[in-house]
Amino acid sequence: MIKNIIKSSIILASILFFACSDTPKKVETITEVDPLIQHIDSSYKANEDFFMFANNSWFKQHPIKASETSNGIFKTIEDSVNAAIKQICIQSSLANVEKGSNKQKIGDFYKSSMDTTLLEKLNITPLQEELTKIDNISSLADLPKAIAHLNTIGVSPLFYFWIGPDDKNSSFNRGHLWQGGLGLGERDYYLNTDERTLNIKKEYVNHIQIMFELLNQNEDKAIATSNTILQIETDLAKVSKSMEALRDPYGNYNLMATSNLKINLGTDFWQNLLQAWNLNTMDSLVVSQPSFFKALTPILNKYSIDDWKNYCTWNLVSDYASYLSKDFYNEDFYFFNTVLSGVTEKKPRWETAVNETNDALGELIGQVYVKEYLPANTKEKLKEIGENIRTVYAEHIKDLDWMSEETKAKALVKLAKINMKVGYPDKWKDMSAVEINSKTYLMNILKLNQWAFNRMLAKNGQPVNKDEWGMYPQTYNAYYSPSFNEIVVPACNIIVPGYEGKMPDDALLYGIIGGSTFGHEITHGFDDEGSLYDENGNLNDWWTAEDREKFEAKTQLIVEQYSAYTVLDSMHIKGDATQGENIADLGGVTMGIEAFKKTDHYKNNVIIGGLTPMQRFFISYGFAWMVNRRDEALAHRVMTNVHSPAKFRVNGVVSNLPEFYETFNVKEGDAMYRNDSIRVKIW
Ligand SMILES: [Zn+2]
Repeated sequence: MIKNIIKSSIILASILFFACSDTPKKVETITEVDPLIQHIDSSYKANEDFFMFANNSWFKQHPIKASETSNGIFKTIEDSVNAAIKQICIQSSLANVEKGSNKQKIGDFYKSSMDTTLLEKLNITPLQEELTKIDNISSLADLPKAIAHLNTIGVSPLFYFWIGPDDKNSSFNRGHLWQGGLGLGERDYYLNTDERTLNIKKEYVNHIQIMFELLNQNEDKAIATSNTILQIETDLAKVSKSMEALRDPYGNYNLMATSNLKINLGTDFWQNLLQAWNLNTMDSLVVSQPSFFKALTPILNKYSIDDWKNYCTWNLVSDYASYLSKDFYNEDFYFFNTVLSGVTEKKPRWETAVNETNDALGELIGQVYVKEYLPANTKEKLKEIGENIRTVYAEHIKDLDWMSEETKAKALVKLAKINMKVGYPDKWKDMSAVEINSKTYLMNILKLNQWAFNRMLAKNGQPVNKDEWGMYPQTYNAYYSPSFNEIVVPACNIIVPGYEGKMPDDALLYGIIGGSTFGHEITHGFDDEGSLYDENGNLNDWWTAEDREKFEAKTQLIVEQYSAYTVLDSMHIKGDATQGENIADLGGVTMGIEAFKKTDHYKNNVIIGGLTPMQRFFISYGFAWMVNRRDEALAHRVMTNVHSPAKFRVNGVVSNLPEFYETFNVKEGDAMYRNDSIRVKIW
């Protein structure tokens, strides 16, 4: 196998040299096969399908496991991080540790999630107390209190509530209500009528029925219950805004005095809800989608109290099913993993336990992870790449031919003020109040949810703490927060699979970490949504009207480009809903290229693995999105996720970049070719 790879990499190198006009000055000799080269499938042409060209050999050699929705760079990094977390869990559970210490919490939580024998014995009993509370609801007047309680244990029927930065005053914490209540996550599942959607809806009702039979409803009753729940959720879906419509921060900002909630929304439900959380002093809150909340009042009156009890029970059991005995666990797995994502086998129990422990106690695990499992200079290296991207970003903004000097000056101020949190937090969250034991898995989850909710309630009336992180250091992901005007890049973004223990070359560093991570996240500050927030994180349009118009003409090209891509049979990308991510991808790689051009690797034209610097940069970018996903999971993502599928994150971006055309000799008539008039350049 290795031989074949070497052979194909030599052929490939000659093809690539043919397309490249640079004269190599320095060839780096490597004794082993370069991991990046092994991804390439030269039976695909770079100018026809770059994503498959850059990645398909890897896909062929690494089929998706029956227990996974996908395989690729994310899964590879997750496996390596999970191996570390497993060690941390096991070491914590073996040690004779002090009660209340981080080790005790990690070790005991892990043990509780591994003890499937006990889970069988307990069956539904750990949830019984909560089920009884719902059963005791006797009238519609009891509902706000019951739903308020469910929120404290992490269950959100009908809507979502949180306390966080006010969009127009980012240092002030405010309460927010947001549309919700859909078990399938997205309104299109309830409203679309294509065969795939109808089949999922049918399976969904069936799934609800089985869950109620497990809760001892007889078959006829369970059938009726499941149909009513679908009806309730369909009513909610009809008054919910679409994913596209939600991309309007001004539309989502509707401040209401709490004293006016009853008049504005037609029910005292909301005041009773706030009272149940002891938020009587809250004088106003943001009702993000007033049309949804107004429409809730007739929906609340349309159904009987028994229907609402069933709806609450459904929300509770669905959220906690995976912490119960295997009847519940298996049925929940079947619908959410097999039906929605095509996964047919379960992961080994240890892996599920590791994932759950990390989800629950990632803040504590992260403290060990960064000390014991990452190179010492991780933070510094990430920071260096991030600052290099910021520098080229500023140069690009100054050179833009479509933006006025006035708006440029403000964009530069915003860019300079983006706070870069990299690696891990300086101050960890205090979890000393959380009690964890080794026996009651479900109760551990419930207590953690309560801790998180109470922690959030305590923010009411307090200034925003801008030191907080929304991700763990061991999370292979990153984000931009418009309210904080910050990017957060966790430590494990330093990992490049195949290059563990050695520093990857600059093409990899800038193709992956520089372009698709730092460049991408910074661009979110300047995408269709982020660009509406100013340098202090406030919703405050700082653009001239003319510049905004020019910007929107460019983003419209992106919307049209991605809407035209077919993902599966008749399924297209939602160009509107995904535009922010697509803008970020394009801006990210543009800056990745510019920062890479400043490196010695590029300037000295260093050849690695037979690849010129630019060839290597683009193939590295392909590697950043090396993800092969099952069709079912792909369809589910297109329905519910604002990111385009991996293939289009690569092909859609590079086909807009002049460097790509030069590097791979892309000509009119090639599949990767886009006419000059529709090629997008924004930042
Ligand atoms: Zn993004």
